[in-house]
Amino acid sequence: MMKDIATPIRTQQIMTKYNLKVKKSLGQNFLIDPNILRKIVGQADLTKKSAAIEIGPGIGALTEHLAREAGKVLAFEIDQRLLPVLADTLSPYDNISIIHSDILKADVQAAIDSELAGYDDIVVVANLPYYVTTPIILKLLLEKLPVRGMVVMLQKEVAERITAKPGTKAYGSLSIAIQYYTQAEMALTVPKSVFLPQPNVDSAVIRMTKRDVPEVEVIDEDFFFTVTRGSFVQRRKTILNNLQVAMPLGKEKKEWILKALEEAEIDPTRRGETLTIKEFGLLADKLYAYFK
Ligand code: SAM
Repeated sequence: MMKDIATPIRTQQIMTKYNLKVKKSLGQNFLIDPNILRKIVGQADLTKKSAAIEIGPGIGALTEHLAREAGKVLAFEIDQRLLPVLADTLSPYDNISIIHSDILKADVQAAIDSELAGYDDIVVVANLPYYVTTPIILKLLLEKLPVRGMVVMLQKEVAERITAKPGTKAYGSLSIAIQYYTQAEMALTVPKSVFLPQPNVDSAVIRMTKRDVPEVEVIDEDFFFTVTRGSFVQRRKTILNNLQVAMPLGKEKKEWILKALEEAEIDPTRRGETLTIKEFGLLADKLYAYFK
């Protein structure tokens, strides 16, 4: 077995060799613990018939673990300075493609078509840059890419919101947006000591498995997301009060909202955080009939 990139000594050596200073603005916190890497990769259930997509390979710590378990790895890195480093650290592996790109601007589907042809089991596995975790996850889900799921490290607080169940403080429009498309669960909580440099916040790994069909069928997805977001704008207010702000103008607005709530059998004095995704779906469809 080759020596891991992700040991404190080897990471230090690589950074010294390339005179590399981490860019905090790019969320660069490198993993320096092979054990945690094995645990993360273990969550992805990879075989040589699978391909992994990584966002932000850094100096290659996670990338090489993925290359050992998967048939192919496709990684997107925004920081030009890391490309020669990766070419060096990952030279023992011949099953990795690195694309120099901001993942938020990348045509991921085109990259899958050209780099991962023949793989029908694709999983996203990443230690995400914390300044853009939610936009990255939402982009990958909304583009409806052919992936089985995602295993990602992110801030514990965001991990809790994504995986939250109705009736809890952390439950909100982010939980719904992601659980609409996936089954999301907390996989690992991770100590700060496994990073160099250590982040300011606690971290966790979550596992999202794409649903074959969304959690609830709705007439109009955009409208459904407008209703869910609008229902949490003022968390302490009732669903009726929040919807009165969120729905478009109209003199019969309150009456329509009350009718839709009644048809969906939802008490207008409930708060958004008590509604399941199925209830939100039903409510959105009833509102749609009045407002669209
Ligand atoms: N995978 C490495 C590890 O675990 O040690 C590095 C993880 S580090 C938390 C995040 C990585 O994402 C950095 O390499 C950073 O340069 C990269 N990155 C930041 N923003 C990015 C973006 N918009 N698109 C692609 N990569 C990005």
